[in-house]
Amino acid sequence: AVQNLLERAAELWPDSPSITFEDRTFCWRETYERCCNFAEVLAAKGIVAGDRVAYLGFNSHWCFELFFAAPKAGAIALPLNFRLSTAEMIACMEDARPELLLVDEHHIEQAQLLMDACPWLKTVIYAGNGAPPESMEGYENLLSSPQPQCSFGSSGDDTLLIFYTGGTTGRSKGVMLTHNNQFTNALGGLSWYRMTERETHLLASPLFHTAAGSRVFTATMTGTHSVILSRFDVMAVMDAVQRYRINTMQIVPTMLQMMLEHPQFSDFEFSSLRLITYGAAPMPVALLERALNELPGVSFAQSYGMTEASPVVCVLDGDDHSLEPERLTRLESVGRPVFHNHVRIVDSQRKVLPVGQVGEIAVKGSNVMKGYWRAPELTDAVLSDGWYYTGDSGYFDEGGYLFLSGRIKDMIVSGGENVYPIEVENVLSRYPGVVECAVIGIPHEKWGEAVHAVVRLAEPGSATEQEIKDHCRGFIAHYKCPVAVTFVDEPLPISSVNKILKSAVRKMIIK
Ligand code: ATP
Ligand code: MG
Repeated sequence: AVQNLLERAAELWPDSPSITFEDRTFCWRETYERCCNFAEVLAAKGIVAGDRVAYLGFNSHWCFELFFAAPKAGAIALPLNFRLSTAEMIACMEDARPELLLVDEHHIEQAQLLMDACPWLKTVIYAGNGAPPESMEGYENLLSSPQPQCSFGSSGDDTLLIFYTGGTTGRSKGVMLTHNNQFTNALGGLSWYRMTERETHLLASPLFHTAAGSRVFTATMTGTHSVILSRFDVMAVMDAVQRYRINTMQIVPTMLQMMLEHPQFSDFEFSSLRLITYGAAPMPVALLERALNELPGVSFAQSYGMTEASPVVCVLDGDDHSLEPERLTRLESVGRPVFHNHVRIVDSQRKVLPVGQVGEIAVKGSNVMKGYWRAPELTDAVLSDGWYYTGDSGYFDEGGYLFLSGRIKDMIVSGGENVYPIEVENVLSRYPGVVECAVIGIPHEKWGEAVHAVVRLAEPGSATEQEIKDHCRGFIAHYKCPVAVTFVDEPLPISSVNKILKSAVRKMIIK
């Protein structure tokens, strides 16, 4: 059980820092005691095995603590996506039906609306500094009163957490992840990222998403000090790296871009940074090249994965981030499967395809989810014989590197040929001045679908449609090249976890 990891961390590194949040630093002994104490509070509030305990708020040590206190009380932790609208939040609450809600100081009004809309919600606890609002009890006050002993807890294949997926391809789904799933992923993180008790790690990505949320368990396994930022803010990130001498951090490509483009980027000291891990969305090679040049001495590792796999499936490690021309194509891959899972490429009948052929990516391992929360038909559609069918397409090269081709849903079929948007986007992003791009298929009388590119330039007007098309022609087959290019001045529409929403881009083009 993950709560044993925390207990062990408190034995191994009692006085070493566990978490820093808003100028308050805890040590592992304190974090352990607070989690045990809050588990007792949960039990005293009537929480029993299998109940959901939700957290509505920005990143904080309270959210981190819930990841251990909930299972210690036998409950399931449910970090909510704070970027959802109230209507979406209510839909999510109706799906997950949490019995208890923790709310931070920034979401009190929303929590009050949820209390009215969700009659099954028995208790709302204020997880913040200062006095709680009238209708709520305060986490800190509850902790300070002595609680009875709680003797139970979840473990093994019990559900530890529910994370909702990014909602990039449709309605977001609740993914049930077990102790074993998280343990497996944490072990993977330990071997790939080599985090240690001597290092400091920045948690700036949202904890309601697996990428950052799961890192909490790796940090606890390794005793790494986590500096938690309430939200991703470029200035706050650069400032924290310098101030806390951060060694490792996790980032999504758009965040990296925001950092590199920031006018004050060069004013900050990044020498403590050892490793930046990125993933969750395609990283334009041009952006990565820039990062490698502007952050010398920092290694980069890419991870590919999804909520359903806890999340890491493949890693492209530091040694493969080379700008030597003959090794450059490696950078377009997502690396090789990590030791704890098997990955294969299958056709539409789920038959295994040979190396080099594009098909659906399937994953098997103890990191694969138990299923979708209260959606057995959705679970059956993607889980079979221990294999999880990801809905992503890609292929392996001879060296065992996995290349993503995009979401199966986003594949374009033009004149009977399959066109994978990522391949075209990679070419587009190499054109000087292209900041962002998205490739979609639009209905075409003759070809079925036509390849359409949407491009944002650093300086509007610095390239013409013909120049972009000619550039693509130099790299990829004719049928893959955009038939039309639309230039936009505004950033492309993104999801609540910063991924380009192809469905919204399509709506911009097809009016
Ligand atoms: P939904 O399932 O609700 O549509 P989502 O799939 O975006 O949303 P997540 O589980 O957060 O939700 O994201 C996993 C997906 O993100 C993967 O299936 C893959 O398409 C994409 N992804 C993950 N890592 C990478 C990466 N390194 N490069 C490119 N794409 C990635
Ligand atoms: Mg998905």
